[in-house]
Amino acid sequence: MYNVKSMKAEEFIDHGEIMDTLAYAEANKNNAELLDAIMAKAELRKGLSHREASVLLACEDKERQEKLFRLAEQIKKDFYGNRIVLFAPLYLSNYCINHCVYCPYHATNKHIGRKKLTQEEVRREVIALQDMGHKRLALEAGEDPINNPIEYILDCIKTIYSIKHKNGAIRRVNVNIAATTVENYRKLKEAGIGTYILFQETYHKESYEQLHPKGPKHNYAYHTEAMDRAMEGGIDDVGLGVLFGLERYKYELAGLLMHAEHLEAVHGVGPHTISVPRIKRADDIDPSVFDNGIDDDIFAKIIAIIRIAVPYTGMIISTRESQKVRERALHLGISQISGASRTSVGGYTEEERPEDTQQFDVSDQRTLDEVIKWLMELGFLPSFCTACYREGRTGDRFMELCKSKQIQNCCHPNALMTLKEYLVDYASAPTRALGEELIQKELLNITKAKVREVCKQHLSHIEQGERDFRF
Ligand code: SAM
Repeated sequence: MYNVKSMKAEEFIDHGEIMDTLAYAEANKNNAELLDAIMAKAELRKGLSHREASVLLACEDKERQEKLFRLAEQIKKDFYGNRIVLFAPLYLSNYCINHCVYCPYHATNKHIGRKKLTQEEVRREVIALQDMGHKRLALEAGEDPINNPIEYILDCIKTIYSIKHKNGAIRRVNVNIAATTVENYRKLKEAGIGTYILFQETYHKESYEQLHPKGPKHNYAYHTEAMDRAMEGGIDDVGLGVLFGLERYKYELAGLLMHAEHLEAVHGVGPHTISVPRIKRADDIDPSVFDNGIDDDIFAKIIAIIRIAVPYTGMIISTRESQKVRERALHLGISQISGASRTSVGGYTEEERPEDTQQFDVSDQRTLDEVIKWLMELGFLPSFCTACYREGRTGDRFMELCKSKQIQNCCHPNALMTLKEYLVDYASAPTRALGEELIQKELLNITKAKVREVCKQHLSHIEQGERDFRF
């Protein structure tokens, strides 16, 4: 049945192929010759197949794992430098008609506060986010065609892009809403969204159906084929993810990489990002009832393997994870993180009881300023850049630049300029001091002299109050 180019979920995520892959991985987990050959291929930085990645995941040899971690870190540096892109989620509405058993927004939860932001409230949330320094958002909403129809999401996007408060601006709006029609994806594209993000939750069809017992999300094929419809609707940056803890992680890794292979085979471009959420405690959700929870070590191994399997794909870790876990993950290939997130509707402006509408507990509760300072202390370059998508460098155009490492001559100066904006407009004095020093050092890493010169000029214009330069 397995057919990477098929448009049918059950053929491109074929259960039989995943089971064969897991058996092959188990049988070969100590096959030194094969493991060496897979690592040698990984070192070429052209990625690995789901089978090869599964063998690495099955292998329990500590020495090999250390080698894998070092390679993952190096590959991240080769393609993405030391830049880490920052974003924040914005919860628009927690009305939902689905019954996802791991999510407190499920329709049968009668005691959680239900809330949908008005356009005025969206405005206030966005101003609060701009005042922190955010430039990139991920919109989040439950699925409810009456309360949150596509027109509502489109109105919110329009409102968000229209707000210019002081020097603030949201320059890229990514969207994480339920699977929808080609026509709606087209509307989202026209509204100027960046990435369309949709987590698969689990690739295991039977578990998927049990975990989503009722509501439109119950339909495994409709959900799994969503990215194909999004691409048909003109969205060429799509973000995949699995909610780790629901199913066996080995099954999920194989499924996730098969999904990436399918997108590449059919549309000529793989996923723009992959997220790695783990189930968290929430209103009426106890993560320990899901038996497939993974510990921090397995989590780290999964991140490193995804990084080497799809070297050009951005990888996202959210504030679901603690500072400690995020720090480890940053050294294994993560390229984007959220900061100062609120997972409640109205959470950025509500003074009282924002936890009433919260989707899940946030582990990393630091301010954006603290996160930025921490990143710089760890040797990373925080970036608020949104230029690629605004310059039309999306989909395969972005991937080509990334593969040829040309991205270094636009992303790096863009990171420096957007960090400079952050430092001038929002940073505390210690963060600013550290950042200014970093910018001077990082300027030397721009390889093209001409680009370096122009970047320097832009930096001085930013100092004088001008904004929004980009390569
Ligand atoms: N309604 C959209 C959908 O169905 O895809 C958007 C989903 S929700 C706002 C974003 C993601 O949060 C979900 O896809 C799910 O993976 C994750 N999520 C739900 N409950 C969670 C929990 N208890 N802990 C951690 N993540 C959770």
